Amino acid sequence: MDLLSKISHAVKESELRPADHIYCYRSGSISSYAHHGIYIGDGKVIHFLDNSEAAGGNGEGPGSIFRGFSSSSASTSKSRCEECGTNKKGGVQMTCLNCFLKGDSLRLFFYGVSKAELALSLRGGCSGMKAEEPEQVLHRANYLLRTDGFGTYNLQTHNCEDFAIYCKTGIIDLKNGTSKQVELVRQVGKFGAQFLGKKSSNLIGVFQKLKTHLVDERWERDSVGCHIAVEELVKMYTRGIR
Ligand SMILES: [Zn+2]
Repeated sequence: MDLLSKISHAVKESELRPADHIYCYRSGSISSYAHHGIYIGDGKVIHFLDNSEAAGGNGEGPGSIFRGFSSSSASTSKSRCEECGTNKKGGVQMTCLNCFLKGDSLRLFFYGVSKAELALSLRGGCSGMKAEEPEQVLHRANYLLRTDGFGTYNLQTHNCEDFAIYCKTGIIDLKNGTSKQVELVRQVGKFGAQFLGKKSSNLIGVFQKLKTHLVDERWERDSVGCHIAVEELVKMYTRGIR
């Protein structure tokens, strides 16, 4: 993989291997949130969606918040995909790669990265956690698909990135979620307020401080959460912890 691909996380479909964690940025959303899933081979992806998908959103919380700005799915959301037969709804879904991407660029999520590498990918797309063996990852994704057992979607604490990270690592933070994207937006908002409050301050200096803080926080949050067998997790969700 060349340096540019390493920074952009761009990957071709032909380079994917079963059990890869893939993602894309939703170009139709002004918030540019990412959607995540597990590639299972044969052009298929298992991913976790909220109910806004059925209403023509991006399948993400922000998709519903910014639905008025969404352009990619409005004309196609009601038709059934001929390739995968998916008539989009919430929960754990298996779709074709096209339905997952909706025209956005395919990217690969990296695991086991160093703290320095984490700093290169400020927008996310990597984790210091170790990914488990592909067989285990595919078992979790397929089990959660079969049972639709990943509970109820929540943008802040239980979203598509939490699903993909859980499938890859077996680790889940039941209280706060493992995903970093909402936290990133919150921190950038804080950064904006800080900058406005200090008109004379050096923008680059404040930005560097924010970046160091974010990297530290993401690095630490990687170690939060517990390892749970997928069968146990589904039982917990069935009993209604979510
Ligand atoms: Zn499809």
